[in-house]
Amino acid sequence: MKLIVLGAPGSGKGTQAKFITQLYQIPQVSTGDLLRDAVKRENALGVKAKEYMNTGNLVPDAIVLELLKIRLMKDDCSKGFILDGYPRNITQADELAKITEIDQVINISVDHGLLVKRITGRRTCKECGAIYHIEYQPPSQEGICDKCSGELFQREDDTEETVKNRLNTYDKQTKPLIEYYSSQNLLQTLISDGTIEEMRQKVKLLLENRFH
Ligand code: ADP
Ligand code: ZN
Repeated sequence: MKLIVLGAPGSGKGTQAKFITQLYQIPQVSTGDLLRDAVKRENALGVKAKEYMNTGNLVPDAIVLELLKIRLMKDDCSKGFILDGYPRNITQADELAKITEIDQVINISVDHGLLVKRITGRRTCKECGAIYHIEYQPPSQEGICDKCSGELFQREDDTEETVKNRLNTYDKQTKPLIEYYSSQNLLQTLISDGTIEEMRQKVKLLLENRFH
């Protein structure tokens, strides 16, 4: 099962991708996570990527493709995977089509007004990667992960300035993928206007219908 989760920054695509990994025992492959990991390790690739990420621009296609290829070759991807954050433009989608065949694209659609609020309130666990929101899904103790007691932090690119540019980038470059995949009959859109749990149910239903 090879899936893509499409959606604007803050649409909750990462949260839903994590949920799908539990449902179907296939890994979540997040290019954002792969890039943040490279940035943390401060290798040449990471240093280059960092300037793009912190201004809300896309990292050059060649860099991301390189990381993606290495990741998809690992054993755990042999039964499938969920791509989260890739592709982000038509060129990347064309490159992906050369490597592998995608079964289904889930497009998570969210009202733009909600997105800035969602992203700037987002907090992530340093240890296990769990995602919280200071208003909509606060941890029981401020700044501390419920699951592993790890410290919560705000991503460097989750500030209001950068978020606006990320949303712009999404509109200009990533949104055209909706048409791209729907013309290939691969796309289904889910509207996210409720809770995370409601969204999970929609995702689960979609996948059950598609893959029984
Ligand atoms: P979000 O979808 O919330 O913006 P991500 O973690 O997916 O968060 O991405 C964070 C940043 O990493 C992006 O703003 C971009 O700079 C970079 N990035 C992630 N995936 C890609 C990609 N496929 N191509 C280019 N840049 C990417
Ligand atoms: Zn944690």
